[in-house]
Amino acid sequence: MIVTRFAPSPTGYLHIGGLRTALLSYLWARRNGGKFLLRIEDTDFSRNDEAAALAIVEAFKWVGLEHDGVIEYQSSRLEIYQQHVQKLLDSGKAYKCYMSKEELDALREEQTARKERPRYDNRYRDFTGTPPEGCEAVIRIKAPLEGTIVVHDGVKGDVVFNVSDILDDFIIARSDGTPTYNFVVAVDDALMGVTDVIRGDDHLSNTPKQIVVYRALGFELPRFFHVPMIHNHDGKKLSKRDGATDVMMYKTMGYTPEALLNFLVRLGWSHGDQEIFSMEEMLELFDPSDINRSASVYNTEKLDWLNSHYLKNMSNEKLCELLEFHGVMLVSHDKKEILLDAVKERAKTLVEMATLINEVLVRPLDFDEAALKKGYKEESKGILEAFATALKNSSELHLPSDYHHVMETVVAQLEIGFGKIGQPLRVALLGKLSGPGLDSVMAIIGVEETLARINALLKH
Ligand code: GLU
Repeated sequence: MIVTRFAPSPTGYLHIGGLRTALLSYLWARRNGGKFLLRIEDTDFSRNDEAAALAIVEAFKWVGLEHDGVIEYQSSRLEIYQQHVQKLLDSGKAYKCYMSKEELDALREEQTARKERPRYDNRYRDFTGTPPEGCEAVIRIKAPLEGTIVVHDGVKGDVVFNVSDILDDFIIARSDGTPTYNFVVAVDDALMGVTDVIRGDDHLSNTPKQIVVYRALGFELPRFFHVPMIHNHDGKKLSKRDGATDVMMYKTMGYTPEALLNFLVRLGWSHGDQEIFSMEEMLELFDPSDINRSASVYNTEKLDWLNSHYLKNMSNEKLCELLEFHGVMLVSHDKKEILLDAVKERAKTLVEMATLINEVLVRPLDFDEAALKKGYKEESKGILEAFATALKNSSELHLPSDYHHVMETVVAQLEIGFGKIGQPLRVALLGKLSGPGLDSVMAIIGVEETLARINALLKH
């Protein structure tokens, strides 16, 4: 069975890059009928970081990812780690090191002066004497002294690390008994039965240490997939300046979960030149060995493009539901179908859609100066009056096509082009020259309101 996990450090919110690795892990587990676990890496061991977990679960819920089983908190697993440290001590694979901080600093200084890489010199590795007084021991693991450690990475291929370049007998437990990061990650992944570790490639350099722990404890190694980071256009790591990093901000900004997940899966993974992936397709097609080797670039236009695709193809019922979060209540509006059809093609986000809707539903408070200048000419007054009269004389005005018909008649009578009526009418109805189709706008607000808005402009 494939078991994957998402193991965020508690930052109080779910990072967009985190959601990407969570999604990939989720897809791979679900595709194989496996399990997708959640572990909070609150290694300061002071308390369960439940608030952080809640923020993650909330974001998962919004996008529709679900984890299996209980949430594991590293802060509740201290005893487990201590047992495993003891195991290594008992089997001679780890040892107590009594080197003081001053000694360690002195060693570092010497090594740096000799232009060597600072590393612990294994002085307590085979120590059998009496421990120096007043010195609290840390626990170090016996790392290989030479050779290489090869990470067989499903994305990057075999990555070879020279032991002499990167390893020493590193600390697995501090003098106060608390275990260190790479030790707990390896122990947790092994005990939680994780078979496939999919994570950011900023963790690749931790992997040799974790492999040392796996081997010392006799655990079977998982498969590793290190996913390249998301970069901005300048090739730097994505930061708050490039776009929101908190997943829930994307909800606030009016993105749909479908678009966001589609966007994220394509950041670093592809299937031919296909751009649109439903969850079903992702589940059918995603394979971590197809993850790209190079960093992917965050591209807001792409996200907007995907979002408008999903908005355009969304049912009006669903749109109604989503718009409520943005303060637009349409459930009992009798023209909601026409309204949503008129705006869904024009908005990149739900926020834009909400703005468009409000611009239709709420009478403009004033008229855009530039629009007035461009759209309202000398002859416009007469044209609008003729149109108003034609409206008053028509009955059965319901659909956009009914209003369109009246416009056609007036245009024919006055022998003018459509623009001559369209532009001033647009200014009257919406206060500006952009927005949804006028036939739809009139059908939505009705004859009375249309006449009222025309009058308001004429008075202006
Ligand atoms: N806690 C780590 C992070 O948030 C992830 C560790 C891992 O996936 O192994 O970056």
